[in-house]
Amino acid sequence: MSQSECIFCRIVRGEIPCAKLYETGTVLAFLDIAPVRPGHALVIPKAHHATILDLDPGLGADLVTAFRTVGAALMAATGATGFNLGLNCNASAGQLVFHAHWHLIPRVEGDGLHLWPSGAYASMDEMNALAESIRARIA
Ligand code: AMP
Repeated sequence: MSQSECIFCRIVRGEIPCAKLYETGTVLAFLDIAPVRPGHALVIPKAHHATILDLDPGLGADLVTAFRTVGAALMAATGATGFNLGLNCNASAGQLVFHAHWHLIPRVEGDGLHLWPSGAYASMDEMNALAESIRARIA
């Protein structure tokens, strides 16, 4: 999708309204229009990058500052005692908008939301072999 059609680029340019929370020269945060919980926010780099795999690593500090600032404020405003920070990378992981973005979802104890079901490896050997395979691709 071109940057002229990207819905988040259009929000950055002010062509589509948003419930803005935070803005710097490089980062924008606003409320998700279809929240998991009220206060569910999105943090996006202003520059168009389809997925995190395309993102400039130099944006890291600006993004972490946004996560901390917006996360603390949305907890204070909603009475949440925590939040989840998540990103969907590619369609198989549920990414719908191909302009990299992070979800901040406010949480309270016992709210019943189970975002991370746990599984198991058949053996430690299987786990270690997979770790070795991943390490080889990082090197
Ligand atoms: P993802 O599945 O990670 O790509 O999430 C995209 C998110 O963008 C969804 O949670 C949508 O509800 C949200 N979204 C889409 N359009 C808008 C919009 N115009 N304003 C705010 N949030 C939006």
